[in-house]
Amino acid sequence: MNPAQLAKIHSIVEERINEIEAFLAQDDPESKPVAPDVAIGRLSRLDSMQAQQMILAQQRRQREELEHLQSALERIDKGTYGNCAYCLSPIAYERLEAIPDAVLCISCAR
Ligand SMILES: [Zn+2]
Repeated sequence: MNPAQLAKIHSIVEERINEIEAFLAQDDPESKPVAPDVAIGRLSRLDSMQAQQMILAQQRRQREELEHLQSALERIDKGTYGNCAYCLSPIAYERLEAIPDAVLCISCAR
């Protein structure tokens, strides 16, 4: 990977981190606990609890991705980014551009 490509990946990762942080920072009223005395029949209370579960699951996935991206950023800074964690060969740039937090090359990921 050449320095320009590395810089490109760096900005993709930072952009994605900003997106996720903005997503996690938004105060979504749907993610608030559902009060038991909410005067909206049983069915809609169930709906709103399910919606809440979905948002919580999504937030969990985003936090995981955020951790992976932050560790990718650390590897870029340390100069160890872009090598497969398993076979140690360089990961194809196209793969890293699509999945910047990839730690395995395409053959090892299969
Ligand atoms: Zn590999």
